[in-house]
Amino acid sequence: MLTIGHEVRRPGKYLGDAPVTIPVPEELETTPGIPMNQREVDWYSREYPVETMNITERASRDWANTMRDQHAEMREIRKEHDKLNRNLVMAARLTGELDPTSDANGEDVTEVIKQKARELGFVEVGITAFDIRYVYQSKKDWVRFPHVICLAYEQDFEPTQTIPSIDAEIVHSSTYRTEGAAGLELGNFVRGLGYRAQVHSPNDNTGPYIPMFVAAGLGQLGACGYLLTPHVGSRCRIMMITTDANVTYDAPVDYGIHAFCQVCQVCVNRCPGRALMRDKIWWRGIEKNKLYFKRCRPVMARYLGCGVCMKVCPIQKYGMEATMQHYAATGQVLGKGTHDLEGYNIEGKGYFGPGELPIFEPGFFDMPHGDTSEWAFDQLKDAAKANGGEISDEMIASFRSDVIRGLGQSTDNVDMMYEEEDYI
Ligand code: SF4
Ligand code: SF4
Repeated sequence: MLTIGHEVRRPGKYLGDAPVTIPVPEELETTPGIPMNQREVDWYSREYPVETMNITERASRDWANTMRDQHAEMREIRKEHDKLNRNLVMAARLTGELDPTSDANGEDVTEVIKQKARELGFVEVGITAFDIRYVYQSKKDWVRFPHVICLAYEQDFEPTQTIPSIDAEIVHSSTYRTEGAAGLELGNFVRGLGYRAQVHSPNDNTGPYIPMFVAAGLGQLGACGYLLTPHVGSRCRIMMITTDANVTYDAPVDYGIHAFCQVCQVCVNRCPGRALMRDKIWWRGIEKNKLYFKRCRPVMARYLGCGVCMKVCPIQKYGMEATMQHYAATGQVLGKGTHDLEGYNIEGKGYFGPGELPIFEPGFFDMPHGDTSEWAFDQLKDAAKANGGEISDEMIASFRSDVIRGLGQSTDNVDMMYEEEDYI
């Protein structure tokens, strides 16, 4: 039995459940939240502000959608999701302008909001300061109010264990929609308490949300790049509500995850794209395992959204309490090396058990990069190079038409849906 350094007490998974106690062995203790250099975070947010990959990686986004759409069921799922989801996104966008519907009584409403969030089905809720450093450039003028309610909605267990699959893709998008509707309802509730509430749709992100969830004590960043929450790990979808309500902030927590991932490494070992880093590096002021986007997207695009890194995570499958108890008692990672945890099917390639990974043909990871215009310029350079340094009229014409198309593309999530005309 390992020496327990500290215990974390959290509310039960569902409303009315008894609280849980997560033992954190001494050898896994690091820091509450994540190791962070605030000055570096400040510097990067000022000099290299974050922007959504929907804009910066538009060329590979369009390529990935084309690849996905070759799968008839995947195309239908995406179509249906965009159709059903659009009104939820549009409704959320308007919420920052809505007035409160009653007068505030001046009392701290933290617990009232948390109780309501749990009644609406959110598995985790925490409150912290809204961190402007994590807002996309293109959304800087949109975000209002100083406090943020961080919310996580559970994705159903059974379909998630079949990842990568059509069932998992269906539950993935339907969870976003259910969550989006519950978030709007919670926003109404906060306005009913006499405050303002701006709903940030889970499908219209205003920035990378995880840093604020970590600050609110709702989990820690896993090696897979997802937030690992206490009850369901990465098997949840997250969203936020900013507000001016009278609230008290939560604090970051050391669940032992920062160190545990370095011992576990299951997602790193099982990733079909070899897209996850074994070691941590310092990136934009925090210490983390960095995802190789260029090795992930080609797998996601071709194999039903992939998500193997979610499926094989013991925290997702067994929860943090059971996983940490097992580690404290045995020094072993619960489920590691078993087919139950680590096995998965890749459509068209078959089953891969512990220690087995698919092999891909040469060129599998080649995909466009940058936005449409940047990619057009790269293609022009490659074509000219292949033509002995000569740029033909055809090359210029093709470049011109791609740049014009790129400049005409919207940078707005909803408008991007409209651009796919035959789609909705
Ligand atoms: S989604 Fe698939 S390819 Fe991407 S990091 Fe996760 S396991 Fe790897
Ligand atoms: S599978 Fe293991 S290493 Fe990967 S995120 Fe989960 S706990 Fe961390």
